[in-house]
Amino acid sequence: MSDWTLLLEQPPWFTTLAGLLGLLIGSFINVVAYRLPIMLKRQWHEEAQTVLGLPMVRRARFNLALPGSCCPRCNHALRVWENVPVLSYLALRGRCSACSRPISARYPLVELLSGALSAAVAWRCGPGFEALLLLVLTWGLIALSVIDLQHRLLPDVVVLPMLWLGLLINTVAVLADLTQAVLGVVAGYLSLWTLFWLFKLLTGKDGMGYGDFKLLAMMGAWGGVQIVPFTLLLASIGGALTGLWLLARRKARTGSEMPFGPCLAIAGWIMLLWSDEIHTSYLHMTGF
Ligand SMILES: [Zn+2]
Repeated sequence: MSDWTLLLEQPPWFTTLAGLLGLLIGSFINVVAYRLPIMLKRQWHEEAQTVLGLPMVRRARFNLALPGSCCPRCNHALRVWENVPVLSYLALRGRCSACSRPISARYPLVELLSGALSAAVAWRCGPGFEALLLLVLTWGLIALSVIDLQHRLLPDVVVLPMLWLGLLINTVAVLADLTQAVLGVVAGYLSLWTLFWLFKLLTGKDGMGYGDFKLLAMMGAWGGVQIVPFTLLLASIGGALTGLWLLARRKARTGSEMPFGPCLAIAGWIMLLWSDEIHTSYLHMTGF
């Protein structure tokens, strides 16, 4: 039986359930992507104040749970029905029910993306432990991509635990054997680290951030060293095409910074789910 016949036999209930769960988690990803950078900046500010011996300013509690969700413009506290993924945005016609000012379309888009990618993981893997782990990874990658796009930041508090989780699951060879996973971390980090320093020595500029090295190391921990070269290749092609497209639309200037994290996240996710097919087609294309 071919792989495709197997895929068609995946139970629809599992794909639907994963899609719905993905929508709900997408709502939480929005909270994380909005609040985590603010929490980190507050923390860095406080650390700087301590180092400089400046008096501490007391501020209201702000974390992932508190205060409750509200409109960022008028502070109207969202009611339960205003917090339903995608549907609330449609029911409110994209405007706050209190001040009528527009709500960013980013929120329903992230929810839809999370729902669609979660359904894709379920459809690809079928019910089981592997699907559950890949769902967690998918949600982490979406959160990291949204934060990187907006803040040029890949927070260690998300990347590092995900890297350790990748190594941990591969102690029982869920997605790759442990040796490949450890080599994946090293190859992921050092390949971009080397490129970074070569670029810096040649041009005197920073081509990317240390967060990108850690993100590729994390992908290596999950999928093993075998996915690292293609992840890097696909991410570079994606990054170059996006850069050219932005330049063509005059939305970016030559030499301006473009976050590389989302390209790595998308490429790594594709490689984790379809590495066998991609490697096979590559071997066919090159005539091996
Ligand atoms: Zn409002």
